[in-house]
Amino acid sequence: MSDRFVIWAPSMHSEPAAKCGYCHGSKGENRDQLFALDSWAQRYMGKLDAIEIDNCTIGSFVEHMDVATYDRLCNMGFRRSGKFLYKVDPLRNCCRLYTIRTVPQELNMTKELRKCVSRFVTRIVNDNSCTSPLPSRDFVGKIVDAELNSKTFHTRFEPAIYSDEKYQLFVKYQENVHQDYKNSPKSFKRFLCDTPFGLEAVLGTQESWDQLNNWQRMEPGEKLKHVGPVHECYYYEDKLIAITVSDILPSGISSVYFIWDPDYSKWSLGKLSALRDLAIIQKTNLQYYYLGYYIQDCPKMNYKASYGAEVLDVCHGKYIPLKIIENMISRGRLFVLGEEETNVSRELQIIDSAAGKGARFFIDNSTKYKNIAEEIYGVNGRAFESANGSALQLKELYGIPYEEEDLDTIYHLKEQNDSSPGGIPNVVPGLLPLWELLHIMESGKITDLEGRLFLFEIETDGIRPLMNFYNEPPHVKKCICDLIRLFGFETCMKAVILYSEQM
Ligand SMILES: [Zn+2]
Repeated sequence: MSDRFVIWAPSMHSEPAAKCGYCHGSKGENRDQLFALDSWAQRYMGKLDAIEIDNCTIGSFVEHMDVATYDRLCNMGFRRSGKFLYKVDPLRNCCRLYTIRTVPQELNMTKELRKCVSRFVTRIVNDNSCTSPLPSRDFVGKIVDAELNSKTFHTRFEPAIYSDEKYQLFVKYQENVHQDYKNSPKSFKRFLCDTPFGLEAVLGTQESWDQLNNWQRMEPGEKLKHVGPVHECYYYEDKLIAITVSDILPSGISSVYFIWDPDYSKWSLGKLSALRDLAIIQKTNLQYYYLGYYIQDCPKMNYKASYGAEVLDVCHGKYIPLKIIENMISRGRLFVLGEEETNVSRELQIIDSAAGKGARFFIDNSTKYKNIAEEIYGVNGRAFESANGSALQLKELYGIPYEEEDLDTIYHLKEQNDSSPGGIPNVVPGLLPLWELLHIMESGKITDLEGRLFLFEIETDGIRPLMNFYNEPPHVKKCICDLIRLFGFETCMKAVILYSEQM
């Protein structure tokens, strides 16, 4: 069971954009940036007071997942918060959140970052007892040399579990930096300790922690043994001053959260932690540093561009250097990369193989690229008509309760506000399109899940393998289809879906 993907039936969670942690529902003068595309802005700008723009998240609680599966899902645009696995609906959401990653070699070493490193080095090896000449010129070498020679600073990687010391620092940070006074040990655990990964990944082995805690001394080509969630605690003069919360994945390090002591604000600990993480990636022979989401029109999040990064085209499942699509995503816009002569007749096929995920987009200098998001997902885009046609067939031929959707259901009227979790819309960029789902039915591929996918109905407390997809009640069929659309067919082969009769 160790590679089982145990998940509650996924749903769409909407709340007014005022609750969006990035734009708070207000983009000031730039209200049209609440919309993903020009055509939607034109259609609704005059009605902004009547419609509700939401913060739209699609996801679910995961009870168990292996780290390799999470790596794959990260490269499909997912993130986790505790046990909640989610992605944002980039069409309906108030902000465009792009998965962003970088590699140490691409880091743009600005004057500011150079200063941050040299101040750090001076602070931790300033006791004159250190005789090392610190000869390294690059930031990785500087950080490594300084840490190996410091008598005042060290860090410790440890399992992502609760301690009073960590919690005290968390509260100090939340209150002083985020003016958040509603903290409890329980909320700390839920947010930064709970994970869907098995005990093996959480606890690791003594050998794996020893290696990780000596990352500065790892040899080129040496394989890092630890994968899973970690807390890295920073100590200065034996006082805990910062904690990075990360997931170590087979393909790199995914940054989850960073906590620092406001008394040490002069250290620029946020920048320093990113530089240290990049140094760790290089020395541990990992590949990528996942910085979470990039939001071009959010001042709090767009500093990430300065790390020389690439962003995920969620429809192609491939990464593109940010500088190539910078103009396409300005003003809060959605992008899907296409060639100048691309003609789109429906949503793009989602590449559903582990090998294709997370690759780089092959950029050919002689080809002209454009943003084809409008042609697919705009008001006159091809996606909606195609999805409606497929929805009818899925319902009539296979009894899966899909309904046609009106274009005007993209945004709802303010008075119809309903924050309870809802169904997943027919058209969502980055989800398997309905025509592809129909193809899975027509080709009979759906039967590959039989005997492999398991269903757990919570009312009856019974777990059973899927035996015959076509004989399942409509709501179960729909739930399985939602799972395929979100996570891909391969992941569903090892899924256990927890669901309720009442959904
Ligand atoms: Zn927002």
